[in-house]
Amino acid sequence: MKAVQYRTVGAAPEVVTVPDPEPGPGQILLKVTAAGVCHSDIAVMSWTADELPFPLPLTLGHEGVGTIAALGEGAEGFSAGDPVAVYGPWGCGTCVNCAQGKENYCLRAKELGIVPPGLGAPGAMAEYMIVDNPRHLVPIGDLDPVKTVPLTDAGLTPYHAIKRSMAKLVPGATAVVIGAGGLGHVAIQLLRAMTAVRVIALDVSDEKLALARTVGAHEAVLSDQHAAAKVLELTGGAGAQVVLDFVGAPPTVKTAGAVAQVDGDVTIVGIGGGMLPVGFGVLPYGTTVTAPYWGSRRELAEVLDLAHAGAVDVHVETYSIDEAPLAYERLHAGRINGRAVILPNG
Ligand code: NAD
Ligand code: ZN
Ligand code: ZN
Repeated sequence: MKAVQYRTVGAAPEVVTVPDPEPGPGQILLKVTAAGVCHSDIAVMSWTADELPFPLPLTLGHEGVGTIAALGEGAEGFSAGDPVAVYGPWGCGTCVNCAQGKENYCLRAKELGIVPPGLGAPGAMAEYMIVDNPRHLVPIGDLDPVKTVPLTDAGLTPYHAIKRSMAKLVPGATAVVIGAGGLGHVAIQLLRAMTAVRVIALDVSDEKLALARTVGAHEAVLSDQHAAAKVLELTGGAGAQVVLDFVGAPPTVKTAGAVAQVDGDVTIVGIGGGMLPVGFGVLPYGTTVTAPYWGSRRELAEVLDLAHAGAVDVHVETYSIDEAPLAYERLHAGRINGRAVILPNG
């Protein structure tokens, strides 16, 4: 089968032919319908050989939707042809966090060498993929697989971040979304669907600011050195109760800290290497700063329920498997509006 692999440190991903996988005991073989292209893959492909936590080659793709092609011995719960989404942050399944479905915070994944598909295990950017356990699949019913696949990360990750701050997202409050890309443009829609807050979006490109407005941002502000002052002006000097940073670079975490309200939440989701110092008097009193990871199995089910209710409309650009390297080039250049989705069998 064809697969999109990251094969050599520092090189572009390549489309190669690899042996068709077969499901082992308890595993599921999926025929992949759609695989999303995430900026985290670009971060992974910028790491040095020493920084890479897993060996190459790696089949990319940590957002996957497909249909059940085969069940390994003893695997149950699905039938051939069922359309499903893959829950990516695989954990051990039995520690106290996994027992609550929070496999993104598995206590034993590192020790047991459990890694997500596309981020260590073979991922979704191939004609077929192996899912290690049926509990890592969520049925999608009649949802459009192409618009649904980004919800497994670009939807789930902001959903998890928003859920953590729900107590502060009361009517009349302000949420700032920094970076209106794959994750950010879904975050804006989730905030609008789940709360009655005012949403201020920040980005560096006019196209992304226009998308932010289209998907529900009340204000869209250019993310430059004047951005913090502008957000403070828009909030009457008070700042935002919740700031979600989907860039996480040094200038954006600085802006995030500067626009946080007293007792506010700053959530750094982007992995751009920015650091926000915390200490008495450094940030407004009571500011909480967190850097969460992905989301829980239950939260993925909830995000898909929001999609069933028609509350989110992911903007997608589709590419064939042979065009996957082009999709990564365009994402790297900031030229994807919404999410790029690869159709491995399309
Ligand atoms: P993306 O490229 O689709 O979106 C990034 C957006 O940020 C773009 O619209 C870009 O124009 C904008 N941007 C760039 N510099 C900016 C700046 N200085 N100010 C404001 N906006 C700026 O990326 P994505 O796939 O949405 O991923 C976003 C980030 O989240 C990445 O760093 C990714 O690695 C990370 N991520 C983290 C998790 C997690 O679990 N913590 C999960 C998924 C992705
Ligand atoms: Zn991702
Ligand atoms: Zn666990």
